[in-house]
Amino acid sequence: MTEVLVLIDAPDGKVTKPSLELLTIARRIGEPSAVVFGDADTGVLAEHGAEKIYTYDDAVYSDYLVGPKAEALTQLVGEVSPAAVLTGSSTEGKEISARVALKTQSGWIGDAVDVQADGGTITTTQSVFAGNFTVQSQVTQGAPVISVKPNSVAPEAAAGAGTVEAKTADISDGAKGAKITSSKEKAASGRPELTEAAIVVSGGRGTGGDFTEVEAFADSLGAAVGASRAAVDSGWYPHSFQVGQTGKTVSPQLYVANGISGAIQHRAGMQTSKTIVAVNKDDEAPIFELVDFGVVGDLKAVLPQATDEVKKR
Ligand code: FAD
Repeated sequence: MTEVLVLIDAPDGKVTKPSLELLTIARRIGEPSAVVFGDADTGVLAEHGAEKIYTYDDAVYSDYLVGPKAEALTQLVGEVSPAAVLTGSSTEGKEISARVALKTQSGWIGDAVDVQADGGTITTTQSVFAGNFTVQSQVTQGAPVISVKPNSVAPEAAAGAGTVEAKTADISDGAKGAKITSSKEKAASGRPELTEAAIVVSGGRGTGGDFTEVEAFADSLGAAVGASRAAVDSGWYPHSFQVGQTGKTVSPQLYVANGISGAIQHRAGMQTSKTIVAVNKDDEAPIFELVDFGVVGDLKAVLPQATDEVKKR
């Protein structure tokens, strides 16, 4: 069976859930080979079906932006002729995959929400125009290079050989065009990562800029906090927490939208959540068209009561 290269994201060595999802998808196409820059828990990769694990251990991959990683991955594609290359749809994953596709003269598909393989034919599904249309695509030139959105599949365990192979690559000066001169460590919130969380509690303009009740409710449930673009654009919450078309896509078991009207661009990032709950003081807010449970009321009154109830259990 042909190899499928999977670019692994593992901050501080911990393999992210979206990377495990990619390994699950890769098994539909061929034999998953994990590609790791820096450290990663190789045991977890093998437990999720990685037959091979290519590791690149050099400061060049952490000292520069994506150029060296893209160049090393391009060289690996030339070496192993994979059936496909999969990356996450993070900013870095998309940039690396696009560079690899260009350099290998292969077709690139971004933001797939599903990947199916029928014999040698790989078909991807993308949700476009803020979730209004679903399109299917096939690459007609080279090995498809595909970035896949988080939460597109549930990660499934499957034993792989997990054979580790240390690799080196010749990194050109051109790939070292952008050096990282300083980096700010993210303040630890103790909350789960937004795209990986089983529960997301979000706040919008209806919070009036104070996320205290939203955060307290999220913490009572062990949830991640999200925000609408109106809240982010107002400077109330960082952009990395924005849910929607120009933010992150989440698909948790439970999504609670507080003081969010339900604009189509917000829905694009959360409408595949398994159960959707909204708290809004306007009973005609469009978000109520989409919810499983709706509460008409002021979030400043509703959320503290809900938090107390959860804490009692
Ligand atoms: P509003 O639409 O102003 O809604 C606030 C809601 O809060 C209202 O329904 C109101 O009834 C309710 N409310 C007010 N006070 C209370 C209270 N005390 N208690 C309970 N409810 C209350 N938006 C995103 O979210 N994510 C995106 O990624 C995104 N991308 C975009 C991309 C493009 C190209 C464009 C054009 C727009 C994008 N938007 C995005 C913006 C989007 O169109 C909406 O403007 C935005 O989602 C509105 O945010 P909101 O629901 O918080 O605010």
